[in-house]
Amino acid sequence: MEKNILFIGNPGSGKGTQAERLVKEFGFISISTGDLYRAELSKDNEWSEYFKELQKNSQLVDDATMNKFLLGNEDFMNSLRSGKFLFDGYPRSIGQAHFLKDTLTTEKIKLDCIFYLEVSQEICAQRLQTRYVCKKCKACYNSTLNELSSKKQDVCDSCGGELSKRFDDSSPEQIDKRMKEYDIKTDPLIDFYKGELITIDASLTPEKVYEAIKKHLL
Ligand SMILES: [Zn+2]
Repeated sequence: MEKNILFIGNPGSGKGTQAERLVKEFGFISISTGDLYRAELSKDNEWSEYFKELQKNSQLVDDATMNKFLLGNEDFMNSLRSGKFLFDGYPRSIGQAHFLKDTLTTEKIKLDCIFYLEVSQEICAQRLQTRYVCKKCKACYNSTLNELSSKKQDVCDSCGGELSKRFDDSSPEQIDKRMKEYDIKTDPLIDFYKGELITIDASLTPEKVYEAIKKHLL
């Protein structure tokens, strides 16, 4: 399918789950800026030195730097030009959204669907508390959702690896922190993309949410 897609939604709204399904079924090119950043850390260049220094001081990458990095990143630019990119955690802020918009305009690339997965923060927090991740292949499970629970307790369906709670997800303090961060940085995107957003009720089961998304794509 030749469509360019963005997902916006709270941590725990199911962006990752939905993105994974779309990638599997339709072959979307999904790029995580976090992965690109981590990939750079293992290299030996100016960016890796800069990022390692930030990490040492537990500092985050600011928008302007991130934008400059992405503009020069072949993997990122190639995914934009693929004609079927899917971002489920990017842009994360208004600064990044402006950059993406300008870059797409320059490259004459159209953004086809911006899905907003709407669901209350209470439900999101509950989901994050019951989320398990495979230590080996990073597949996600959720013990309270039938469709998303593993067949055998604590064992990954696809690779047999051990499932563990994602540390940064599971403590109430961490969840609270992520929600607040989202409110400040990412929530303003809903205004930024007003008029273009496709709002999906993400309180439903993953299967129903997926069906609703597909209706807009097919
Ligand atoms: Zn696994």
